Amino acid sequence: MSDFDLDQHIRKVPDFPKPGILFYDVTSVLMSPEAFGWCIDELAAPFRNGGIEAIAAIDARGFLFGAPVARILGLPLVLVRKQGKLPGDSYRRTFDLEYGTDTIEIHRADLAVPRRVLLLDDLIATGGTLAAAASILEEAGSTVVEIGAVIGLPFLNYDRLLGGYRVRTLIQYHGE
Ligand code: AMP
Repeated sequence: MSDFDLDQHIRKVPDFPKPGILFYDVTSVLMSPEAFGWCIDELAAPFRNGGIEAIAAIDARGFLFGAPVARILGLPLVLVRKQGKLPGDSYRRTFDLEYGTDTIEIHRADLAVPRRVLLLDDLIATGGTLAAAASILEEAGSTVVEIGAVIGLPFLNYDRLLGGYRVRTLIQYHGE
């Protein structure tokens, strides 16, 4: 991986969205075309010469990175959406959060053809969202070749849920 100081482009907001959480705001990366371009290039790099057949990206900040990666690799983009956004027949998964649950959906038509997929989000915390998305892709017959994100928080032990996958993050934070 080339040398680039991504950390200075990531805004850290204490106590958001609730007390005790340090929020790593990836949207500040978008304010630097250089930093944004670096992230896109790095996420796409292992697949420049093939190996995958589609990108899947998580609602909403994952879309910011998934769409340009799909475009530069010339591959289809599958959207993993929060509940209630998709008009067509969809796969659905409900998974546990720290408090409560969340639900994601993917259009069945988008997964009609099994593909080798790069699954992207902006940040991996517990890994719950990505694990749920990966299980839908697999139910549909696709293969998750890699899970990628700009930011990884390994101290939240996402390995527990994503241990069976190749996971790659561009920058890691190890607690506050
Ligand atoms: P998880 O399912 O726990 O891995 O949570 C991942 C999702 O929640 C990602 O889509 C992130 O956008 C968001 N998220 C969780 N924790 C944080 C955090 N500390 N800072 C910024 N985003 C977060």
